[in-house]
Amino acid sequence: MEKKTKKRHAGYLTLKQLGTLREKLLAEKERILNKETTDRARYHLDIEELSDPVDEASANMQASQEIRFATRETFLLKKINSTLLKLDDPEFGKCEECDSEIGFERLLARPVANQCITCKEESESVEKSNFFDRRSKSLGKTLSELGRP
Ligand SMILES: [Zn+2]
Repeated sequence: MEKKTKKRHAGYLTLKQLGTLREKLLAEKERILNKETTDRARYHLDIEELSDPVDEASANMQASQEIRFATRETFLLKKINSTLLKLDDPEFGKCEECDSEIGFERLLARPVANQCITCKEESESVEKSNFFDRRSKSLGKTLSELGRP
């Protein structure tokens, strides 16, 4: 079964499924755009309520946090837009890494996914093992440095 679907080059998603994903992407896009305006409105409200320099400092910090958040949202928005353009492509819904089908269920949960769950988990576990590798190496270094006379 797995082998048969891998050979097929046409899109494996039905028009109805693609329609559902398109609606989901558009709704997510709408949500981000609406959120952006409410965040901005709330931030302006905070500025007006400022009274002393301490508050100003924390407001600046909050602003930088919101900018960081906004950047992430903008990144997601870009991804949504590019995914919307790819919907008509027969290659849509295939894993960037192994070219196998990402699957409708996974796309429904995460329409901007470009890796199948296997590759995603693999890349995450590689990231994790690299992290622990680095940690244990630096720990070893610290211990040997401590042991030096
Ligand atoms: Zn894959």
